[in-house]
Amino acid sequence: MQKGQIRVQTENIFPIIKKFLYSDHEIFLRELVSNAVDAVQKLKTLSSIGEFKGELGDLNIEVALDAKEKTITITDNGVGMTKEEVDKYLNQVAFSGAEEFLSKYKDANIIGHFGLGFYSSFMVAEKVELLTQSHNADAATVYWSCDGSPEFELYEVEKRNRGTKIILHVAEDSKEFLDGHRLKGILEKFCKFLPVPIYFKDAAE
Ligand code: ADP
Ligand code: MG
Repeated sequence: MQKGQIRVQTENIFPIIKKFLYSDHEIFLRELVSNAVDAVQKLKTLSSIGEFKGELGDLNIEVALDAKEKTITITDNGVGMTKEEVDKYLNQVAFSGAEEFLSKYKDANIIGHFGLGFYSSFMVAEKVELLTQSHNADAATVYWSCDGSPEFELYEVEKRNRGTKIILHVAEDSKEFLDGHRLKGILEKFCKFLPVPIYFKDAAE
């Protein structure tokens, strides 16, 4: 007799995310905007304790829609991430397998609850790209992308301004979010009263 544990592996994270969060797809925007707000607040804190000595500048967040390109882009000029940080915070959480993914979010009680985090972007996007420059000016700007399969790309690119840009390539079955009024409505619903100004830009206007 042999006893053991079935090891669940996931080749594609979309079906899991979609299945468990079907009714709440619109929360992706809140998750990404709140990460951007966190990034700005972290930078303010580092500045106030003297760990960040550069110019804070005009701290803000932009949500840009380009329906023609089928993209939604969220940009902040907060702390940013180094290559190591991207690897640690974005790569390792998600692709350690379905089992771990589900147990992580089960504890957070995902169904009917918020707090899915960065990976909620895959509820609406078939591909996510990220460009980030750490507030530590010595760090390289990095590019990360993922199409929801366990494979990602991560490499250094030409230096950009401090902060993070996330480009969501909206999937065919989520194109309702490419409607400017819809997107603006979600932003107004979830992202009111935040401590950082959020600007909405629609390429069609
Ligand atoms: P949480 O926000 O609960 O930590 P997320 O999945 O939303 O979980 O994000 C994971 C981590 O990725 C964050 O803790 C942060 O370190 C990093 N991160 C995500 N978005 C940004 C961003 N816009 N700027 C800087 N770091 C970010
Ligand atoms: Mg978050």
